[in-house]
Amino acid sequence: MSYRTLLLIVLLLPAALLAGARVLGVTIPIPHWGRDYVQRFVVDAAAVPLELPAIAGPDDPSRPLVVIDAGHGGRDPGAIGTDPEGKTFAEKDITLALALALREELLRGGGIRVALTRDDDRILPLAYRPEIARQLDADLFISIHADSAGEREDVSGASIYTLSEEASSEAAARFAARENDADRLNGIAIDGASEAVSAILVELSQQRTQEDALDFSALVLREGGDKLAFHSQPRRAAALAVLRAPDVPSVLFESGFVTSLSDRARLTTAQGRADYASVLARAIRVYFARRASALADRE
Ligand code: ZN
Repeated sequence: MSYRTLLLIVLLLPAALLAGARVLGVTIPIPHWGRDYVQRFVVDAAAVPLELPAIAGPDDPSRPLVVIDAGHGGRDPGAIGTDPEGKTFAEKDITLALALALREELLRGGGIRVALTRDDDRILPLAYRPEIARQLDADLFISIHADSAGEREDVSGASIYTLSEEASSEAAARFAARENDADRLNGIAIDGASEAVSAILVELSQQRTQEDALDFSALVLREGGDKLAFHSQPRRAAALAVLRAPDVPSVLFESGFVTSLSDRARLTTAQGRADYASVLARAIRVYFARRASALADRE
C-alpha cells in the first residue's frame, strides 16, 4: 500500500464510519426528560418544502377550520412499544391512524373544515406543523402523540398539553421580533406598528390564544371523562415548539402510552380509535359552538 493510499484511508475513515452509521440508521440519542415529545430527528427544513395540505369539508371559508397534526412520521418513528410477542408499535403509525379517524368523524358530522399536516408516512419538520395551521388561518390546532414510559408498563392514560405561561410569553416575544413585518395577527393590524407596540399586540394575542387552548383542553377532559382513560394528571403545560403559534389555539394531545398494554389495546384497534375520534370531535364541536355564540354576543 502506498503512503498516499494509506493517508487517504486515514483521512476518509471518519466520514466512512459516519456514512455507515447513517445507512444503518444509528442515531446519537438526544436526552429528553420524562415524556416523549421530542422529535428525535432534526430535519433540515430547507430539504423539505412546506406544502400546504388540502382542506376537506365544506367549501366555505366562514366555517371553522381545525388542523390535525399526526406526530412524527417517516424516518422519525416517535416512541416505540413492544408487546410480549415482540411485535412493535410505532407512535408515528398510531398518531396517523388517530388523525385520519378524527378527520373522518368530523367530516361525517359536517360543518367543520379539516386539514391534516400529514396524511401519510412522511417526515415533516417540527416548525412546519404550527406554521401550516397559521398559513391556513386555522381556528384550532391539535397535535396528536402517543407517549413512552420506558420500562414502566403500568404507566398509562391520555393527557393534554398547552403551552406553559412562561414559554408562551417567551414565544410571543420571539415571534414579535421575528415576524415584525407580518401584516396582521388575529385580525389585529400590526403592519407599521412600532416594534414595542407590535410586541405588546403579539403578547395580547397569545394570551387570548392560550385562554382558548385551555378552554378546549377542559372540553376534551369533560367529553372524554368517562369514555377515555386519562392519566392521573391529565392537564399539563410545557414549552413545546409545536404549540407556539401566537394566533392559533393549540394543544398537544398525548393519546396514551405505547408502552402500556391497555393503552395500546385502545390505540391500535378500530373501536379504540373510534372512541378517541368521537370524544375529540365532540370537544371540537362544542368549542366552535361556544366561540360562535361568544362572537354573536359581541355583535
Ligand atoms: Zn411524540
